[in-house]
Amino acid sequence: MKKKLHFNSLTIHGGQAPDPAFGAVMPPVYMTSTYAQSAPGDHKGYEYSRTHNPTRTALEKNIAAIENGKHGMAFASGLAAMDAVMKLLQPGDEILATDDLYGGSYRLFTKIFEAYGLVFRFIPMRDTATVAQHITPKTKLFWVETPTNPMMNIIDLKGMAELAKAHNITLAVDNTFASPYLQQPLEFGADIVMHSATKYLAGHSDVILGSLVVNDDTLAERLRFIQNASGAVPSPMDCFLVLRGIKTLHVRMERHCENAAQIAAFLQQHPKIEQVYWPGFETHPNHTVAKQQMNAFGGMLSFVPEKSSFAMAQKIITSLKIFTLAESLGGIESLVGHPASMTHASIPKAIREKSGVVDALIRLSVGIEAVEDLIADLDQALS
Ligand SMILES: *Cc1c(COP(=O)(O)O)cnc(C)c1O
Repeated sequence: MKKKLHFNSLTIHGGQAPDPAFGAVMPPVYMTSTYAQSAPGDHKGYEYSRTHNPTRTALEKNIAAIENGKHGMAFASGLAAMDAVMKLLQPGDEILATDDLYGGSYRLFTKIFEAYGLVFRFIPMRDTATVAQHITPKTKLFWVETPTNPMMNIIDLKGMAELAKAHNITLAVDNTFASPYLQQPLEFGADIVMHSATKYLAGHSDVILGSLVVNDDTLAERLRFIQNASGAVPSPMDCFLVLRGIKTLHVRMERHCENAAQIAAFLQQHPKIEQVYWPGFETHPNHTVAKQQMNAFGGMLSFVPEKSSFAMAQKIITSLKIFTLAESLGGIESLVGHPASMTHASIPKAIREKSGVVDALIRLSVGIEAVEDLIADLDQALS
């Protein structure tokens, strides 16, 4: 048995071997829906590409390796991966989800799955003891995002895993914001890790894809059954693109984190800024937990201009030249977002504001450009 590789090698080599047909070092894009059988049921392991495809397998093995898990699954999108997780549940089951989460997740839960009898409660999860108070005999799943989107709250993964185990509850973690470079939730005892691979894993804003990683064999079998039966699978080309992106994940993340740290410091001291949300500040309420469970503080941050002025937020957003106003995050290019009207528009205003997503909040996905250019861009927009 070979010694386990470091993370920075697993991104490139995890689960990968030269292709058996011609020794191609990079996985071929197997654009095929079906596979020849020499006799009924006699085939080389692949029958139909909804069920599996060699390019998808290469990606799934790689994602499992970098999340330090046993089974990886790739889906047509992050939301398709979440959809499969929700289908593990039965009508009447209760789900406790963080109150500060991706707007599309909130929409999937409330506008689709509530109609099938699942019961969702959106609660603050910054303190595990508060979560414990909401558990009932019907609670079957915890849905956690950390850092949260867009408020950058940190949820204690070890504490949540202990609570989940004690009550026989499944812990699912949306690890999109951190990426496995910063934290590996299975290591802290989570049961399911979900990614919108669209973001940091793919890293180049050119593909939509989602993934799940689990350790438990029975859970993996059930999720694969749901995936095949429901059919939300990614194309071989998209799998290839994400796999290609992951090979540089560690190099990109290092730069995302360094740039974000410098921008957070710049905004923090700027007289026209009221509040900066970034888990790397010692004053961040869960900074200690962030330090324990993350290798660095990520490439995302949010801020509010002085007097929580929406007019000023709009002025800043439209004055930026390098930061592009767009949905999404995690690509090499810097993006600016306005959560209240974009990613979080599907969450009612009252609920949104309760968790801090005010109309003046601005979110940055810090890219890997020269940080001097990014700071100069913010500086001119603020003046
Ligand atoms: C984008 C995103 C999703 C949804 O993923 P898609 O690939 O767009 O379907 C889920 N969670 C988080 C945190 C996201 O940022």
